[in-house]
Amino acid sequence: MSTPDPITLDAFLGPEGVIARRLPGYEERPEQVELARAIEHALREGRHLFAEAGTGVGKSFAYLLPALLHAVSHRGQGPIIVSTRTIALQEQLERKDLPFLQAVTPMEWTAVSAVGRNHYICHRRMHLAHRERGVVFDDLHREAQLNRVVHWAQSSRDGLRFELPEPVDDEVWEEVKAEHGNCLYKACPHYDDCPYQRSRRRLDSAQIVVVNHALYMADVALRMAGASYLPDHRIAIFDEAHHLERIATESLGLRLTLGSVLWHVKRLHPRRSRRSLLAEYGNPHAMLLLEQVRQAAEAFFALLEARLRGNGTLPLEPDDLVEDPVSELLAELAAEIHRCALGVEKVDLRTELQARARGLTSLHAVFLSLCGPGSVDKVRWIEQEKRGVSLRAAPLDVSEALQKHQFGEPRCNILVSATLGPGGDPGFRWIRDRLGAHERVETLRLGSPFDYRSQVTVTLPVDVPDPSGDPQGFFDACRREIQTRTIRNGGSALVLCTSWNFVRRLADALRGPLAQRGIELLVQGEAPMRDLLRRKREDPSTVLLGTETFWEGIDVPGDALTLVFLTRLPFGQPDHPLTMARQRMIQARGGDAFLEQTLPEAILKFRQGFGRLVRTAGDRGEVVILDPRARTKRYGRDFLAALPEGAVDEHG
Ligand code: SF4
Repeated sequence: MSTPDPITLDAFLGPEGVIARRLPGYEERPEQVELARAIEHALREGRHLFAEAGTGVGKSFAYLLPALLHAVSHRGQGPIIVSTRTIALQEQLERKDLPFLQAVTPMEWTAVSAVGRNHYICHRRMHLAHRERGVVFDDLHREAQLNRVVHWAQSSRDGLRFELPEPVDDEVWEEVKAEHGNCLYKACPHYDDCPYQRSRRRLDSAQIVVVNHALYMADVALRMAGASYLPDHRIAIFDEAHHLERIATESLGLRLTLGSVLWHVKRLHPRRSRRSLLAEYGNPHAMLLLEQVRQAAEAFFALLEARLRGNGTLPLEPDDLVEDPVSELLAELAAEIHRCALGVEKVDLRTELQARARGLTSLHAVFLSLCGPGSVDKVRWIEQEKRGVSLRAAPLDVSEALQKHQFGEPRCNILVSATLGPGGDPGFRWIRDRLGAHERVETLRLGSPFDYRSQVTVTLPVDVPDPSGDPQGFFDACRREIQTRTIRNGGSALVLCTSWNFVRRLADALRGPLAQRGIELLVQGEAPMRDLLRRKREDPSTVLLGTETFWEGIDVPGDALTLVFLTRLPFGQPDHPLTMARQRMIQARGGDAFLEQTLPEAILKFRQGFGRLVRTAGDRGEVVILDPRARTKRYGRDFLAALPEGAVDEHG
């Protein structure tokens, strides 16, 4: 009997491939085939691949195809994890690309999208909350919501919160969701039908598991602590991988807010309520301690706010102790609840009380870590956030942790992005050093299938003053240039700024003159991003104005976007404690913080901003770089040189 021919990439990609035959409008892209082959090779050889592939290459098929061919031919060796930057991109793979590949591939395989445990219902906790509803909830409205959850859970297969026919309050979901440290596993009477446990089994048997970077990096942090959420795997593929360092820094850091403390307090006994599990099964001493924790936490955060004195951030030195009246009370309260739990006969109630006490113990550890003496390898600071003050800590450098837990043997990581670094960086040294990827590394740099020479005009107006020498003159010139050019273009523009203050001032100055010409200004923060993008696509003449995430969160192909303004070169916040501490670290080892950190980060963001204009082969338009330093400073040349080949010929 002859063995069937192995299924190869060529059968799928290329002009005669399955995808070309089944996907209307598919165009063969040599870069896509090259990327897919490089990934196939890296997976086969067990090596890491850092691959930069410009916009329009079709990266998702280029990594999904070799991934699933590899996973199918290595069944039983764990899934391949595919990680995207956002949940929206995760959903796009789940709803669009993977079902298409399911339909056109002849092999048997499954792909599962992983979401955090807290999105799943826990039947045991739900039944407990229902039985104790008179204790858990103080009002009929929430009791009614709980009844609806119980009714829905009887027929829901996946038990995911976002599948509820009608949303419920967070307070209700808190009582019924699956939780880390609050599961009886096989001892649970609902184990066999538990949606969360079923999802775990699906993850374990799938060939492809799709996650987002935040979930993946949270799992790395868990792995470092000896636990894990994602199934055992050897291979991970990261799309838009240039975000990994930032997301790893957040996941490996700590953040404490009054809200996070009150969340634990409220779970035990909501203020102004007469009923709660603690009131019913605790004792008066525990209730007193709980009130003391609440008051101490409020005083603690009020003191932090006073220390900030109206500033956005305040760095803390390693020997700077923060007065902490909370942690001892937390430890005492946790011990008291444990004692109360021991006297409770019903297992589910005892488990619930113990889980809440364990939550307090974890919070106690966070207080100790943030308030006690710091260490030279982490930076701590106080920060004014939208909803109050936070006390935070972050590792100065994540490369050592990632080298050990992500880039060491036998793991194999594929990192792809349109911008993996500042450009002109042979071997992707810059990002590899920051992620700790030193060995078994292959690299690939591919251009874009777009013809930037004919599709984009880059303009650098000559009469704009330097923003650092004449900020008001720079603002006035930006306003004038944007207004004139946008009206001449009939709108259809995107304006990228580097601060909220600049966005607000420009919005105030431009809204009237543009409205007089029938052009609507859509400003970041005035509506959710999703709504702004929908309105932009519905009315191509509108103008989008924003900062931060707009530099890479905007995907508007076609006539709705033909003019992009890059106002200021996007250097990061120089006075942020994490930025300053990382600069000091570079200087301490004799490096140049501007060249090693500030400039590459800014160029990477600049490349992303530039990439907003051309999203398809048919897109055409103009990018106006308003910051004169792109022309006048030596480093300005590095920004221009990092743009796609052919993009910069003429400077208007
Ligand atoms: S197995 Fe765990 S998550 Fe599932 S119902 Fe039981 S306790 Fe809840």
